[in-house]
Amino acid sequence: MTINTPSHSLSIHDVASLDETLASLDLAGRLAFVAALGGRAVFTTSLGIEDQVITAAIGTHRLPIDVSTLETGRLFAETVTLIGETEERYDITIKRFYPEQDDIDAYAAKYGLNGFYDSVEARHACCHVRKLVPLAKALEGASFWITGLRRGQSGNRATTPFAEFNAERNLIKINPLADWDIAMIKAHVSSETIPINPLHARGYPSIGCEPCTRAIKPGEPERAGRWWWENDEKRECGLHVAEAAQASPLPSASQR
Ligand code: SF4
Repeated sequence: MTINTPSHSLSIHDVASLDETLASLDLAGRLAFVAALGGRAVFTTSLGIEDQVITAAIGTHRLPIDVSTLETGRLFAETVTLIGETEERYDITIKRFYPEQDDIDAYAAKYGLNGFYDSVEARHACCHVRKLVPLAKALEGASFWITGLRRGQSGNRATTPFAEFNAERNLIKINPLADWDIAMIKAHVSSETIPINPLHARGYPSIGCEPCTRAIKPGEPERAGRWWWENDEKRECGLHVAEAAQASPLPSASQR
C-alpha cells in the first residue's frame, strides 16, 4: 500500500520510519513535520482536552493543517460554545461537518431518536449516521488524519503508534499525543492557558455526545463515562476502529 502526496510517495516501510521520526520530536515538531510532507492534513477535534492541545499547537504555529469537527447535533452546549471560543482564541476556522437530515430521519423511524440505549446495533447505527458519515466527508482527499488518541486513554488504545496506515480510509493516521499522559496534558493546558471544556472539571475526562456521556467516579478509567450502559470494555464509536466491524443497518444519504 502506498500513500501519494504532491511531494512524496509513502510505503509501509516509510510509515514505520515516519513513526520513528515523530517519536523523536516534540508536539509542534511532529505536526510541522507531517504538514511539510505535502499532502492534505486534517485534524478532527472533539474539543476534548487532548484535542485542544493539538488545536492550540496548530493555531499558535500557523500550521497548514485543516481543523474539523463532527457536529453530531447531540453535543453538549458547553462543547458547542467552546468551538467558537477556540476559533477566536487562535484565529482559526474549525470546519463543522453535520449528519444528513435524511439519515437522522431514517434512524429515528427505525430505532427512535434515542434508540441507541436499546442495543449495541442501534448505537452503532446512530454513530454511523452522526459521526462516521460526516467523518468520511471531513477526510475526503486527505493524505494525513491527525487525531488526539493517547495510549493511556483505554486498554483499547494502549498500543497507539505515532503513525500508521489506515487502509480503510487510504491515508496515514497521525497520533501526535500517543505518548502523552493525562498529567502532561493538564500541565500543558495550564501553562499555555489553553481553553478547555468546563465539563472536564465536573468529572468528564472524555466528552462525546450529551446523551451518551456521563461523569466518572474516582478511580474509574478515563473513558468509563462513554456509552456506560454497554458492557464491552472496548466500546468505541467506530471512528478509530475498523468500520467493517461496525456495519450500519442504515444506508447513508450519500450511499442512497
Ligand atoms: S455518541 Fe450517542 S448520540 Fe452521539 S452519535 Fe453515537 S450513539 Fe448517537
